[in-house]
Amino acid sequence: MNFSLNAYLEELRPLIDVDCGTLTVEGIETVAGLMAAKYEEMGGWNVKRIDCGKAGTGLEVRNKPESDVIDVMIIGHMDTVFPVGTVAKRPMTFDENRAFGPGVSDMKSGLLNVVYTMRNLDKAVLDKLSICICMNPDEEIGSLHSEEWLKSVAKSARHVLVAEAARADGSLVKARKGMARYKMTYHGKAAHAGNDPQNGRSAITEMANWILAINEMTNFESGTTLNVGVVKGGDGANIVPDHAEAVVDVRFWDNNEYADVDTKIRALADKPFVDGVTVTLDREAHKPAMVPSEKTEVLMAMVEECGKEIGIDITWQAVGGGSDANLTAVLGIPTLDGFGPAGAGFHSADEYLELNTIEPRIKLLMGVLTRIAA
Ligand SMILES: [Zn+2]
Repeated sequence: MNFSLNAYLEELRPLIDVDCGTLTVEGIETVAGLMAAKYEEMGGWNVKRIDCGKAGTGLEVRNKPESDVIDVMIIGHMDTVFPVGTVAKRPMTFDENRAFGPGVSDMKSGLLNVVYTMRNLDKAVLDKLSICICMNPDEEIGSLHSEEWLKSVAKSARHVLVAEAARADGSLVKARKGMARYKMTYHGKAAHAGNDPQNGRSAITEMANWILAINEMTNFESGTTLNVGVVKGGDGANIVPDHAEAVVDVRFWDNNEYADVDTKIRALADKPFVDGVTVTLDREAHKPAMVPSEKTEVLMAMVEECGKEIGIDITWQAVGGGSDANLTAVLGIPTLDGFGPAGAGFHSADEYLELNTIEPRIKLLMGVLTRIAA
């Protein structure tokens, strides 16, 4: 493989120097245009634009668009978490060891590494494999507008590789915590706190009972944790409150344990603590945990062997945050994440990309695809 770090960085720059945060459709469109052009120029790739509604454009890039089976689905996202104006303040820069800028490792370099992989892959390997590269515009808001599309593609896929950054120590990701978020709205009955408090039904008392019950569901040992992170309610100290709301964030390693939590929370809503109070429960977000299956272990072994061949020590991590890997893993498809170059400081101004990991990670991805083809 002919690799020039300078050429890579100059190709990366226009992908970094464009504001493309949450729902910044114009910036997403720019990135999608740049990415589409790379595959169209390469030849042999069918580029399909996917309408992801409010989030903008997604790209589905295939080398065998007619094939019913997808041997390898590769996922990357085009959005960042940074607001408009970030690029003006801190455009892409680099020194001897690292590159900096919004999305430099999460995950513009991941997207570019996939391009380099396809440019350099043996034609014979490409001929054997049906590859589908999906680039979505809204991963940072939980892939709200691309989830259905990604899952529908994943159903035909035998393996899923996600090109999010490798961890700072070079580890790939084999497991990711799941998450869920619920908003509870409590409806009580207002009454004057001095004249007839007995006729009131306190929404805040109901909420307080919920908070204690929810705290009881936490199990630090197994990693199922619940956090009521937002509460609101009441209009004045002299009024029995008829309204309150709370938001709880749930994290878990074990999807079955989460199912229990979900059942318990719904049961609370069916049978309020305070007579006369009603509760509206709204699950606002849900990502199942990504847990390695036996088939995933086979894929991991394959990645480790490839690592050996090119001289990188492959290590694995289980991490707390979610990614699109959670969505496909729960469908039972062997899914691994962290195929991008290494970096850290994601979602902050300290974000960086480790330059000496770019080329080896391209080689690793090429190696894994070559093995899958064989
Ligand atoms: Zn990311």
